Amino acid sequence: MDHSAEAGSGARSEFLAPAGVSGWIEVDLGAIAANVRELKRRAGSADLMAVVKADGYGHGAYPAARAALAGGASSIGVAQLTEALAVRAAGIKAPMLTWLYVPGADFAAALLADIDLAVSTDWALAEVIAAVRSTGKPARIHLKVDTGLARNGAFGADWSALVAQAAAAAAEGAIEIVGVWSHFAYADAPEHPTVRAQQEVFEAAAAEVERAGIRGFQRHLANSAATLTNPSAHYDLVRPGLAIYGLSPTPDIATSAEFGLREAMRVVSRVANVKTVPAGQGVSYGHTYVTDRETRIGLVPMGYADGLPRSGSNAGPALLGERRLTIAGRVCMDQVMLDLGPESPAVAGDEVVLVGSAAAGEPTAEDWAVATGTISYEIVTRMSTRLPRYYRSETA
Ligand SMILES: *Cc1c(COP(=O)(O)O)cnc(C)c1O
Repeated sequence: MDHSAEAGSGARSEFLAPAGVSGWIEVDLGAIAANVRELKRRAGSADLMAVVKADGYGHGAYPAARAALAGGASSIGVAQLTEALAVRAAGIKAPMLTWLYVPGADFAAALLADIDLAVSTDWALAEVIAAVRSTGKPARIHLKVDTGLARNGAFGADWSALVAQAAAAAAEGAIEIVGVWSHFAYADAPEHPTVRAQQEVFEAAAAEVERAGIRGFQRHLANSAATLTNPSAHYDLVRPGLAIYGLSPTPDIATSAEFGLREAMRVVSRVANVKTVPAGQGVSYGHTYVTDRETRIGLVPMGYADGLPRSGSNAGPALLGERRLTIAGRVCMDQVMLDLGPESPAVAGDEVVLVGSAAAGEPTAEDWAVATGTISYEIVTRMSTRLPRYYRSETA
């Protein structure tokens, strides 16, 4: 078994899941810390907020946050209030920002947990102020302006109205405005004319807050792509997510290695069954793959319920030993098949890497994204909680 030789010889052995585990995710926390260090270096004097929404893009929000803070992040960002409360309860003490809610969100719990709140609507401002009254704790607010994404944020005249209301609440001491922020539509295309236009709207929006008498807030606009490709958008704080996990937000511009980043996630399984089938045998549901010779078929017990996209049928990559293979036939709920070839020495128990690092010759989340018509964000964030996560310590 060539994988056992590998297991004894390299860093991979630290990651091995216990015998009998059929599929798992290995997360290299040292890679996350190193990626944050690299992003910090590129961000110059700007602070770095590490975005760990969606369970740390599938890597685990709490361990990702710890590793990012070890790498020099000064704060943590998540989309949902419940995510922020969970990361706080897990033991992260750093400043934390959350930004997406509906009416009735538990702002009181957020204030009691010292979580900063993004506000982009009048109803949210009113609910936050009510929570300040009920808890006696002033709120730290990041006002969000829509500079042209037409998504979250206050747009146009709504922004001016929100700034006036927020400045009044700040004057009363109910809230402290600590940030003004926005989000790009085309951060992955830094030359796109909307990028400059959004920055101009953003700078005017921040100036409006200053004219309302507010001082000392941080301006932030850059996600991973802007952090890596657009220094003029760094302002006081950058807000990368994807890149801290070692993936390139702009694969057309540069690979993650070219950006100096290292993939943190490895998705691994073990062969469960190898059998010989004749030429002309259809493989998996609907027989969309048909063998062209007598061959050996390996069953890998990982499927779309684990997070492998079903659109990876006859397209998704896998690495068995040194061999790069393509999923043969449909991705099932719990399993996929590989055509190992007639001479394959593979046996049950051999390791199969579905997602990993380009430097190690493994298929990457980006490879899966290209094979299935999506982006690497979707590949890693949809990895199922059915797969246990094993962590390599940040000090390793
Ligand atoms: C997700 C998100 C980020 C991080 O984006 P990446 O492209 O993953 O770096 C930053 N800001 C906001 C508002 C987000 O929703």
